[in-house]
Amino acid sequence: MKVFRGIPSSSGIAIGHALPLKGTGFNIKRAHAGEKELEEQIVLFQKAVEKTKRELKKIKNTVRHEIGIEESAIFDAHILLVNDPNLVEKAIKNAREESVSIDYAFTETLNSLVQIFENMPDEYLKERANDLLDVGKRILKNYLGIQMAPELAGDHTDLIIIAHNISPSDMVELGKKRIGGLVTEVGGTTSHAAIMARSLEVPAIVGVSNILSEVRPDDLIIVDSNSNRVIIDPDEETVKAYQTLRREYVRYIKSLEKLRNEEAVTRDGKRIKLEINMELVNEADLVNSYGADGVGLFRTEYLFMRNILPTEEEQAETYQYISQIIYPKEVVIRTADLGGDKFISHFEVPKEMNPFLGLRGIRLCLEYKDFFKTQLKAILRASKLKNIRIMFPMISGVDELRQAKAVLGEAMDELKERGTEFDEEIKVGIMIEIPSAAVISDILATEVDFFSIGTNDLIQYTLAVDRVNEKISYLYNPIHPAILRLIKMTVNNGHQNGIPVAMCGQMAGMAEYALLLIGMDLDTLSVAPSNLLEMKKIIRAVEYDKCKQIVQSSFQFNDVHLISDHFQRYNKEYLSGILFNYGKEGANE
Ligand code: PEP
Ligand code: MG
Repeated sequence: MKVFRGIPSSSGIAIGHALPLKGTGFNIKRAHAGEKELEEQIVLFQKAVEKTKRELKKIKNTVRHEIGIEESAIFDAHILLVNDPNLVEKAIKNAREESVSIDYAFTETLNSLVQIFENMPDEYLKERANDLLDVGKRILKNYLGIQMAPELAGDHTDLIIIAHNISPSDMVELGKKRIGGLVTEVGGTTSHAAIMARSLEVPAIVGVSNILSEVRPDDLIIVDSNSNRVIIDPDEETVKAYQTLRREYVRYIKSLEKLRNEEAVTRDGKRIKLEINMELVNEADLVNSYGADGVGLFRTEYLFMRNILPTEEEQAETYQYISQIIYPKEVVIRTADLGGDKFISHFEVPKEMNPFLGLRGIRLCLEYKDFFKTQLKAILRASKLKNIRIMFPMISGVDELRQAKAVLGEAMDELKERGTEFDEEIKVGIMIEIPSAAVISDILATEVDFFSIGTNDLIQYTLAVDRVNEKISYLYNPIHPAILRLIKMTVNNGHQNGIPVAMCGQMAGMAEYALLLIGMDLDTLSVAPSNLLEMKKIIRAVEYDKCKQIVQSSFQFNDVHLISDHFQRYNKEYLSGILFNYGKEGANE
C-alpha cells in the first residue's frame, strides 16, 4: 500500500482500478514497407485522418452546446493541427523516403514535433505539446482501427485514469459516466484537465509527482480528494473503510441539497451573501442549481486561452448569456488577469524572471490597452440588464485604478458614439490581493463601489510564498496574523466608506475558516460551487455575534500555531457535529 498526495482539484472519493495512460499508448515498432504496401497504407491512413477531422468537429459541436463556445475552441486548434503539413504530410513523406510503415513514420514525426513544443520556453506553447499528442493518438487510433482505451468501452465508473497529463478532448470523451476518478502527475487546479474534471464532477487530484512509475494497469486505487490521498494497492481493511466512507459521503452531499433554497443567514439574523466563482461559461447554470446569490467572480482569462482571441462581439455574447441566465442575480466580471502562471502567447511579453511580480493582471491590460478596451466594451454591451459589475484584478495603488477607470471611460464614450445602449451606472470594484492595496484600502474605498479580497494572491504576496510551489507550501498560511490584519483592515475601511466587501479567494470556501470569515464581517463569500452548500450549512448553524467574539479574541495571539489552536477549538465545537467527518483523522487536511 502506497499513499501519494497532490493538489485536490475536484472533490469526492473514488475506488477503482488503475488505467495508466502513457505516451501515445501505442507500441509501434519500426517496420519496413515496400512501395505498393506503403501506398495502400497511405490511402488507409488518409482515411483515418479524415475520420479524425469529422470526430473532432463532432466533439467540438457537443462541447459548444453542452459546455461553452470558448471551451470548444480548443478543438478548432486540434483540427488545425490535423491539417498541419508538418504532421501528416511530413509523416507520409518520411515513410516514402525511408520505406517504413506509415504508423511508424507518423509516430516518429509526432514525437519529434511534441518534443519541439515541450522545449519551448513559452508555457502556452509548451501546453500545445499535449494537444498535439492528443490529435496524434486519435489519428493512430483510427488508423489502427482500435479503441484508444479498449478497456473503457461501456460504463466503467470503477476506472481511475492515471496520466502524466490528460487532454481536454480525452477528458470529455471519458466523461462522468465512464470513469471514476482522475490522477495526473502535472498541472494545477487551473489546468484544463482539472477544470473539465470539476465540470464533470469526477474526483480528481493533480500534481501527483512520479505516480505513473509506481502504478501498474489494474492496480486497486483509492482517490480521496477530500483528504488529498491517492492510495495504490490498499489493504483490505482500508478498502472496506473507504467503501463505507464513500457511501456516507454520497449521502452527506445529497443531504446538503435541501439547503439549496434556504438563505445563508446566521442564527442571530446576519445575512451573508454566498456566491460562486466560475471559470467556464456553463457553470452559470450552477447559480440556480446551487441556490447561489450570484457570481462573485467570473475569471475571464479562460476566454483568451485559445489560438485566436475572441472578438468584442463574441465576448459580449458570452457575458450576455451569463447575465441572462442568472438574472436578476448579479455577476462580477473580472477583467482579464493574464500573466503570472496564465499563458499569454498572444502578447509579445519577454520571458520574465518573476512572472507573478511582472506584467500580470491590470498591468498587462494597461500595456495592451486595445485588448483591455475591447473587453470593457464587450462587458458594457452585455450590461443592459444592469446585473453586471466590473472588477479589476491586481490593483496596487490609486494611480493604476484611475488609469483603468480612464480606459473604462473611453470604452463608454466609444459605445455612446456608436449609439450602443449599456448600464451607465455600472458598478466598478477591485480585487484586494496585493498588500499595498489592503494597506491603502481606506483611500481606494473612496474611488470604487466594492472590494473583493483575493486571498490566493494576498497570501502569496504578503508572505512571499509562491502559491504554486509545493516546496514552501507549509508557509502558505491564511491565518498568519499579517493576513488576518489585512483582511480586517480592508473590511473596516470598506465599511467605513459605505462599500461592501467580499472575499473570493479559495479561503472563502474553506469550512475550517468559516467562523473566522463570518466574524470578520465579510458581506459576501464567493466560493467554488461545490463548497457553497457546506458553507451555507455552517452559516445557518452559528451566531454572528459569537463568531465576532472568536475573531476578536484571536487577535491576542501573535503566533500562527496559537491562532490555529484557537480556531480549531471552536471549529471542533461548531463544525464536528454538522460537517462530513470533520476533525476525524485524515479528513479535512
Ligand atoms: C485570488 O487571488 O484570491 C483570486 C481569487 O484570484 P486568482 O486565484 O484568479 O488569482
Ligand atoms: Mg488573484
